Amino acid sequence: MNLVLMGLPGAGKGTQAEKIVDKYSIPHISTGDMFRAAIKDETELGLKAKSFMDKGELVPDEVTIGIVRERLGKDDCSKGFLLDGFPRTVAQAEALEEILKDLNKHLDYCINIEVDKSILMARLTGRRICKNCGATYHLEFNPPAKDGVCDRCGGELYQRADDNEETVQNRLDVNIKQTKPLLDFYAEKGYLRNVNGQQEIKQVFADIDQLLSSL
Ligand SMILES: [Zn+2]
Repeated sequence: MNLVLMGLPGAGKGTQAEKIVDKYSIPHISTGDMFRAAIKDETELGLKAKSFMDKGELVPDEVTIGIVRERLGKDDCSKGFLLDGFPRTVAQAEALEEILKDLNKHLDYCINIEVDKSILMARLTGRRICKNCGATYHLEFNPPAKDGVCDRCGGELYQRADDNEETVQNRLDVNIKQTKPLLDFYAEKGYLRNVNGQQEIKQVFADIDQLLSSL
């Protein structure tokens, strides 16, 4: 099974990716891991990518796509793969189609874990940290016994700047804008499968599992 996994920050993509690769024994291929491996193996493309990263520049598409091509051609992808973080643009998605065609493969599904923005906001802004001991809480999933006070040491809880409403809202808006054309692309190709990510983790996986067991 050849899969692309998508979902906004906070949608639970990492958790579901882990469950999918566990059950189906396919490699979880994230862009970061792919770059790190290519750099470590000192492949030509890996070294090229490194030269851009060292300068703090974005790795150009042709290099990224070349690294994806190398990775998907490896033996451990013979039973399938789960791509995570690639493609990010329609141009990359089109390149992926070409790569798969060359490798005599095709994409089965683009699984998109759907969660309403308001719920993502609550998930992503709920973290609180103790100023004194660093213990972390979540207003929804792991709240302190007393509002704003650390259970462990009585210290004051605060919200990191990264977690504030405006920053999170911005991050989500950028992501929504970027992924929309990609989701449209996969919908048009007939690969898109939306999964309701607002359910319990177990149920989200059960829904994904049902999709995959039909392959
Ligand atoms: Zn504390």
